[in-house]
Amino acid sequence: MYMRKEFLQQIDQLLEQSRNEKGVLAYLVIKLKRMKDINTAYGLQTGDDLLQRMEERLSSIMRPDDVLARTGDSEFGLVLPSLNNVSHALLAANKIVHEGEKPLELESQIIDPGLVVGVSIATEHMKHEGLIQNSTIALMEAEKNNERYRLYEPEIDRTLPPKLVLENEMHYAYDHDEYSLCFQPKIDITKQRLDGAEALIRWHSSKYGLVNTQYFIDILEQSPLLMPVTKWVLNMSLRKCLEFQEIYSDFKIAVNLSAALLTNDDIVDVVTSAVKIWNVEPSSLVLEVTEGAMMKNPALSMDILKKLDTFGVGISIDDFGTGYSSLSYLKNLPAREIKIDRSFVMNMLDDPRDKSIVKAAIDLAHNLDLHVVAEGIEQQGMQDSLTDMGCDFGQGYHIAKPMPDDALKLWLSESPWVKSET
Ligand code: C2E
Ligand code: MG
Ligand code: MG
Repeated sequence: MYMRKEFLQQIDQLLEQSRNEKGVLAYLVIKLKRMKDINTAYGLQTGDDLLQRMEERLSSIMRPDDVLARTGDSEFGLVLPSLNNVSHALLAANKIVHEGEKPLELESQIIDPGLVVGVSIATEHMKHEGLIQNSTIALMEAEKNNERYRLYEPEIDRTLPPKLVLENEMHYAYDHDEYSLCFQPKIDITKQRLDGAEALIRWHSSKYGLVNTQYFIDILEQSPLLMPVTKWVLNMSLRKCLEFQEIYSDFKIAVNLSAALLTNDDIVDVVTSAVKIWNVEPSSLVLEVTEGAMMKNPALSMDILKKLDTFGVGISIDDFGTGYSSLSYLKNLPAREIKIDRSFVMNMLDDPRDKSIVKAAIDLAHNLDLHVVAEGIEQQGMQDSLTDMGCDFGQGYHIAKPMPDDALKLWLSESPWVKSET
């Protein structure tokens, strides 16, 4: 595909700039779906005029710093630097299809241009090639699924091998220290201060690069490696918790526990000995378990969770709303909090039904004397709305993204959520 060198250089420059700035950079491939038909039906001149008019239309809805270029016979490339967050890239894509799709009058013909948009977000060290490639993959996915726009999702990473091969690699990864932890801050909305952070595992594979977490966790859960990896996560989290507490003494660390671990009593020993070895207050540790985890063997999981609760660690019900736990079961759980799944929170502002679910979950939790955490807060508007609804805690890209331990220490020393410690 023909692309002007200057445009590619400009993308690289903007990428470079965006590394030193807050916010994200998005690249959109905008394709006129019916260009071929239009050229055939009305001739190349009309086709050219259409592209010209579309360019004017797109320019009229751009911000001053956005950069647009024609990148092919029926395609435009659009760079959106310094967006607040990913959802703004999708809002832009939405606006483009809405505006761009309005029928155009060309030589007394009404032409319906038909747009489809592929969106991708720049990641660290990315150059124009990767960015354009990802947007193009997203565009192809959107076309295949008859959607009007789509965000590139790294998890649809086609270069990953089948699960069985990956499981083998995970043993290698364990032996070669390829796992690491990121920490995502969790704030106490009511007290307007930090509560702690959730530890999230990362796998930087020497072969495949950063592997999508949910993808390899799903494989890990079926593998004998689950227990050793969980022990590693627990120990590393507690060790880091002590370091974070030197900066913020009330810091709590949350660790995710897989469903498969709640079917065997061993996990009680694993947790209690790790807490004792590191000499951490049990109440500084929160274990996040999903609703589904408890449904496999309700009686045994209840027993395990009760033992852990008696020992003094906190229990949190993760991804609340996506499972099927009965209310009577929930009532008897020794949990202290529920985390409303981010799918509800993220759609809250657009879909009143999701907002109702969030409100109902908050009220239900409060009636059962449980705290509520909202995950996936991506905008101030969501945070405000959750505060109004009485939500107690929050987590999400708007507050802070998951980050390595060093970055969290820096964040702890600078964040207004931490400064308000009394
Ligand atoms: P989770 O426990 O529900 O963790 C929250 C996930 O939401 C994390 O994804 C986090 O990066 C992401 N997230 C947080 N805020 C936002 C936001 O504002 N917008 C969006 N779009 N996403 C947000 P991550 O790190 O990819 O982890 C995925 C899942 O993998 C976790 O979901 C958890 O179930 C599992 N997991 C992660 N680490 C571990 C671990 O050490 N052990 C086990 N068993 N599971 C883990
Ligand atoms: Mg979690
Ligand atoms: Mg969750």
